[in-house]
Amino acid sequence: MSAEQTARGRILHGWGVTSPTSASIIGLDQLDSVATELKGDAPRGVIARGYGRSYGDPAQNAGGTVVDATAASGLVSVDLETGTVVARSGTSIDQLIRWLVPLGWFVPVTPGTRSVSVGGAIAADIHGKNHHRSGSWCRHVRSFRMMLADGSVLDVDRESNPDLFWATCGGLGLTGVILDATIHMKPIETSWLNVDTDRVSNLDELMSLMASSDRDYEYSVAWIDLVASGARMGRGILDRGRFATIEELGHRQRNRALEFHDHEVATLPPMPSGLVNPLTVRAFNEAWYRKTPKQRHGHLATISQFFHPLDLVRDWNRIYGPRGCIQWQCVVPMDSGDVIETVVRKLSSTHLSSFLAVLKLMGPGDGAYLSFPQEGWTLALDVPVGAGIHSVFDELDEAVVEAGGRLYLAKDARMRPELMPLMYPRLEEWREIRRGVDPEGRFQSDMSRRLGLS
Ligand SMILES: Cc1cc2nc3c(=O)[nH]c(=O)nc-3n(C[C@H](O)[C@H](O)[C@H](O)COP(=O)(O)OP(=O)(O)OC[C@H]3O[C@@H](n4cnc5c(N)ncnc54)[C@H](O)[C@@H]3O)c2cc1C
Repeated sequence: MSAEQTARGRILHGWGVTSPTSASIIGLDQLDSVATELKGDAPRGVIARGYGRSYGDPAQNAGGTVVDATAASGLVSVDLETGTVVARSGTSIDQLIRWLVPLGWFVPVTPGTRSVSVGGAIAADIHGKNHHRSGSWCRHVRSFRMMLADGSVLDVDRESNPDLFWATCGGLGLTGVILDATIHMKPIETSWLNVDTDRVSNLDELMSLMASSDRDYEYSVAWIDLVASGARMGRGILDRGRFATIEELGHRQRNRALEFHDHEVATLPPMPSGLVNPLTVRAFNEAWYRKTPKQRHGHLATISQFFHPLDLVRDWNRIYGPRGCIQWQCVVPMDSGDVIETVVRKLSSTHLSSFLAVLKLMGPGDGAYLSFPQEGWTLALDVPVGAGIHSVFDELDEAVVEAGGRLYLAKDARMRPELMPLMYPRLEEWREIRRGVDPEGRFQSDMSRRLGLS
């Protein structure tokens, strides 16, 4: 848990480090204490927290209680015939990969970091580079056990309790504390990815290539240079791939076909503000773009290289300095690609600097009331906190809403609450289910209060 101890509890923040607040902590290994706290009447309530990889404030609770789910990790059972695992909610995707890849099973969906818990994956209904093929995390979850607001424990599965199941998927911990979950893993023959990489010279070309070929690949993601302007605006690098077969490996790799390779190389020390600025970002983006050959098809990459390059440097968010960063991620329908162009144009023409901008195509969403994915384009970008940032994003939020899109709550730290029902039209249905299981609003977070979710 990324936190600092104080006399009244611990200071917690999200990955963007934008709005730290203090809360009392109870480990999820002390279930009786969690139940007692829920049955009490402390006004600021309780929220669960995984590894704090949400960028904003959904896993913190100023003046209230935070349940540290990472205190309860590990596998309850594994069926290696079917790839079905029951994992405690504090188990990380990193642990699942390390334990199960050597046995021929991979997580069905992985985000851009492995430091995400099973509980956090359900509560944000996370997506990966395969959303167009495999949907989001909760499509692969059969059931979970959760502690409700009255301290009781309930088995929730998609058939017998669909309302609570789908209100909890993407429900940001506000329906209960997930204790463990039954997840279907994905079979793999090797731990290597067979990757096609293309360097593409502008946004139009990039989006056309993605629209025409993504469906041929299991995984796809594009990095965009948000500094390039003019004819090069939106230039990028498109990586698409699938797990390699054993025949596709060289002799040496075949001997360790299912080995997991971890490449963490460094830990960043605390940094001053201002390191990420237009000058450094321009230099980084130019070098990153140029280092990639125009076309490189059929090369092999490890799981870490392909899915989690950011995990190479621990605490890399320190690069933004003490003021932190805002991550902004939108999704807009397929036929609203012009909104993506508007965003890229806006960013490339302002002083806001982003070296991390990622474009993906999503497939249809699932049945979760507050789940982020919907069919269309999703663009995610990190920007250091600085002057002018809020007015730029407020303007872009409007463009997203007008197109029928939404922002990803697991990344949000700043959006205006009045946009919630416009972005999430099933919010009222979700509130009703939540009121049914938590009539007194015991589950609360800084985000739920900021956005008026309950
Ligand atoms: C570098 C980076 C890359 C990322 N890439 C992606 C990506 O590609 N796709 C994507 O979808 N997301 C991505 N994310 C976001 C991340 O996957 C989600 O924010 C995820 O929810 C974080 O999991 P966590 O364990 O850190 O949960 P936390 O951030 O601690 O909590 C997130 C939410 O889950 C709830 N929660 C946590 N545990 C439980 C529990 N046991 N019971 C009930 N509720 C619980 C919390 O209350 C909170 O609302 C990325 C984040 C980072 C930092």
